[in-house]
Amino acid sequence: MTRSHVFPRHCHAALPTAVGGEGCYLIDADGKRYFDGSGGAAVSCLGHSNARVREAIKAQVDQLAFAHTGFFTSDPAEKLADLLIANAPGDLDRVYFVSGGSEAVESAIKLARQYHVENGEPQRRHLIARRQSYHGNTIGALSAGGNAWRRQQFGPLLVEMSHIAPCYEYADRPEDETPEAYGQRVANELEAEILRLGEDSVMAFIAEPVVGATLGAVPAVPGYFKRLREICDRYGVLLILDEVMCGMGRTGHLFACDGDGIAPDILCIAKGLGAGYQPIGAMLCSARIYDTIAAGTGFFQHGHTYIGHPVAAAAGLAVVSELLERDLPAQVRTRGQHLQAALEQRFGQHAHVGDIRGRGLFQGIEFVADRGTKAPFDPALGIAGKVKKAAFAEGLICYPMPGTRDGRHGDHVLLAPPFIATEAELDEMVDRLS
Ligand code: PMP
Repeated sequence: MTRSHVFPRHCHAALPTAVGGEGCYLIDADGKRYFDGSGGAAVSCLGHSNARVREAIKAQVDQLAFAHTGFFTSDPAEKLADLLIANAPGDLDRVYFVSGGSEAVESAIKLARQYHVENGEPQRRHLIARRQSYHGNTIGALSAGGNAWRRQQFGPLLVEMSHIAPCYEYADRPEDETPEAYGQRVANELEAEILRLGEDSVMAFIAEPVVGATLGAVPAVPGYFKRLREICDRYGVLLILDEVMCGMGRTGHLFACDGDGIAPDILCIAKGLGAGYQPIGAMLCSARIYDTIAAGTGFFQHGHTYIGHPVAAAAGLAVVSELLERDLPAQVRTRGQHLQAALEQRFGQHAHVGDIRGRGLFQGIEFVADRGTKAPFDPALGIAGKVKKAAFAEGLICYPMPGTRDGRHGDHVLLAPPFIATEAELDEMVDRLS
């Protein structure tokens, strides 16, 4: 049954009403059970009824529901920041809490601008991102996203932007080029773009370590991110990593960039941080950036009313404690191998599957019209949407993405099941998708 006064994203959608959640399953008002094969959109890493997180939320509401961060800090926010920093890569040293992924990216863009302020004006304003990326829906984060069709109806956008190629080996690497050489060549596009714009004009470069919502779980080849890090260091460009989708254990490391052996200057996380129990995101930044702002204006000119919310922080603290104490990232690595093997076995030879790839419990399947040539389906067919609909009817939630609309890459679905899924449950998910 639909609720007529809620504004649904897809205006004509008739949605079932979700009434319960149990482990890897969601239950609707008719009692139908859905396996949450995408964790919503890579959110529900602990499943839907985690006792520790539920108890933490209840205890925090009973003790303190809200204290505005203009006046107070709170125990859960301090403890969560400590835990994140203790496990964060590089010299990330401060945590700025927000309510979701777009806010984390928006905060990162503004922090990068403010970091480069001299005499009251930002000296570097340009942001470089990658084509085929998604960084959120607020107007700044939308500017950063690489998908032209997503931006099309909202221009003119507000951030000075340019986009370089992503690292998409399957689609772009010629057979006679090694993966290493390919990674270096694509990374060098960043240097060329910085030089084209002028060495002193670029404030930051932003990328997802594993591309989620636009390409369907595409990791980079080894060495690619190390080369990007070198280029950013050489030209004083801040490296922002957007781990809103791929972070918080999803790829088998607490932070996805640990898998690439690099550390950013600014790191954005959300989704899995609240694991669906509370809306929370965070922007982590290096000591150098924090100290520069503190010594300059002494005030990050940015903030929302609900930042650092004690109940959201209590949920985040319980989530990260669960991830670490149960060593769930290690479980994600082994279950991820199981899932990838099961997907390969079931769909690897399918006439309309072009590629299966990913890291950990973050896997993408690409659908093509022709397996041999990898020619995509006509976008008008809306294949990914049809797969989503058919899977939903079978009681499986998977996350659809249309092809890249430049006619080069096919439709995808993303699988991002809860980390607690057993091998038998993962097999059941593959059965339902099949
Ligand atoms: N960045 C990435 C990489 C994302 O995948 C998303 C959400 N799909 C966002 C940012 C935006 O997050 P939110 O929807 O929580 O605003």
